Amino acid sequence: MPQYDYLIVGAGLTGAVFAHEATKAGKKCLVIDRRDHVAGNIYTQEVEGINVHKYGAHIFHTSLANVWNYVNEFAEFNNFVNSPIAYYKGEVYNMPFNMNTFAKIWPEVVTPEQARAKIAEQIAAEGIGEPSNLEEQALSLVGRDIFEKLVKGYTEKQWGRDCKELPASIIKRLPCRFTYDNNYFNDRYQGIPVGGYTKMVERMLEGVEVRLGVEYKELVAGEPDIAARTIYCGPIDAFYDFKLGELEWRSLRFESELLDEADHQGVAVVNYNEREVPWTRIIEHKHFEFGLGADGQPLPKTVITREYPADWKPGDEPYYPLNDAKNEALYAKYADLAAQEGDVVFAGRLGGYKYYDMDKAIAAAFDLVKTELGVEL
Ligand code: UDP
Repeated sequence: MPQYDYLIVGAGLTGAVFAHEATKAGKKCLVIDRRDHVAGNIYTQEVEGINVHKYGAHIFHTSLANVWNYVNEFAEFNNFVNSPIAYYKGEVYNMPFNMNTFAKIWPEVVTPEQARAKIAEQIAAEGIGEPSNLEEQALSLVGRDIFEKLVKGYTEKQWGRDCKELPASIIKRLPCRFTYDNNYFNDRYQGIPVGGYTKMVERMLEGVEVRLGVEYKELVAGEPDIAARTIYCGPIDAFYDFKLGELEWRSLRFESELLDEADHQGVAVVNYNEREVPWTRIIEHKHFEFGLGADGQPLPKTVITREYPADWKPGDEPYYPLNDAKNEALYAKYADLAAQEGDVVFAGRLGGYKYYDMDKAIAAAFDLVKTELGVEL
């Protein structure tokens, strides 16, 4: 007789949502994580009153009302709006691509009509039909000038490949608009949980047994029948001991510094778009909460993090799945194996080899709740 109804592998967002709902539905759950903390990659750690996003900046944005209402049950969200700056050779530009960017790049451009005409002229000069790669996609969207300054260097650093060898889909995430609006996201709702993401996930996991620093394989080697069902949010290839080969990822390296100054860059995110600068962005974490501590008072110090893109090799932290044809084909084979599992269900970014925004990860967890527990969220 298994001790638990569900073993949930991974205490990140997917695992926490599922564990919360399963517990609420009367199931006995055990959540494990190999790390020494909950919250997966949205983990925040408090340093000098600042909630530091330890695995990269996470800004919650969604147009899904049910997801927004759900997260608000576990945290109070502030009204942070992401408006990053792009730094290129001593100049700064607003992101995403909008009228502020166009007017700075082309000083003669002031109105949307002028911007559209300028971009149309640049696109015509390229003679591109249906874009077949990221370079063509970017050129067709914003023209040569912006591509050279704000896309090419950043993208090639981020992905370690030429823009012509990358799928057009990567850049489709980025808004391009003809209004003076610096909001990076087009979504209806946006904000940061006051007090950090870790607290939000801890709330989801209230009343759930959690064991940290536990390896799934070691646990089930000792207790193979520990749970009736398993929700596995780890890497799908690792589950199968990489027997069909390894799925590839793009990794990141973070270097953080505590600085004895109140404000380092005046904004949460500065992208560094030149190829020659080795990092892609600097995050100044306190700006996610307007520079204020838990008591509402200004904080005297600041923490910044430089984000360096990195090649991934087995054993490194996986961040971005490399969803090219070769890896997708390998994933499909693992997914076939997974479909034959009776009592193990694969979920989340690592389990599904998908680059999820947080809201999409939660929406996918809701689907899992529906199929597993019959509960509609
Ligand atoms: N991108 C760019 N210039 C920028 C920011 C982004 O060319 O200043 C491109 C780049 O190819 C990147 C993609 O847009 O991989 C998606 O960017 P996003 O900010 O959505 O990436 P994330 O924050 O999820 O890493």
